Amino acid sequence: MRLFEDTYRHKGMRKQLTEIVRKKGISDERVLEAIANVPRHFFMDSAFDKIAYEDRAFPIAEEQTISQPYTVAYQTQLLDIKPYEKILEIGTGSAYQASVLAEMEAQVFTIERQRKLFDINKDFSYLKKYPNLKFFFGDGFEGLPTYGPFDKIIVTAAAPFIPPKLVEQLKPGGKMVIPVGEGNVQRMLRLTKQKDGLITEEVFDNFSFVPMMEGRN
Ligand code: SAH
Repeated sequence: MRLFEDTYRHKGMRKQLTEIVRKKGISDERVLEAIANVPRHFFMDSAFDKIAYEDRAFPIAEEQTISQPYTVAYQTQLLDIKPYEKILEIGTGSAYQASVLAEMEAQVFTIERQRKLFDINKDFSYLKKYPNLKFFFGDGFEGLPTYGPFDKIIVTAAAPFIPPKLVEQLKPGGKMVIPVGEGNVQRMLRLTKQKDGLITEEVFDNFSFVPMMEGRN
């Protein structure tokens, strides 16, 4: 079992990372506070605890990645999280993004399609800190119909199209932040479900995510 240590050195590096993310354009203080609070080095192999505080994505198990801190902050800012909101995340991966959302006191439901990644998080002691964070093994294209509808949905893998079942599971007034596109680059979109059910779409910057895949594995 791994022992986790969050030293003053780690906290200092995290403060610097937070300032880097701020300079790149993130202005929501609650998002920056969550980035400053969540010990990102716990989510990576202990050999990488310095790299954990560089603003870049990094490989985790099963050829997946922990998203770049700036990307996590960017998607979280677009979601405009309020305490107690119900959030669905597609693509748990390392559980770093999910922890940032839980740190902001949302009720977080996160789905991962790879059994091995799901199992790693079951044994990850730090995550017990968040009773408001629930893990599911399943296919994100299906969402979580029995737990929905959700105030917000965040997709953290490159979606080839907007999954219709996720749109269905948004509350009226709800928002979904999702990188859409096939190939190396995706467009970050924010969809808002109007009270009458109509969907409006806003287009943001380009990002590069690992692909969202169908089925479980
Ligand atoms: N949010 C993660 C980043 C994960 S990378 C973090 O903070 O570290 C994308 C993740 O999405 C991978 O773990 C991948 O296995 C998962 N994924 C891809 N397609 C999926 C699907 N259809 N349903 C659920 N998870 C999926």
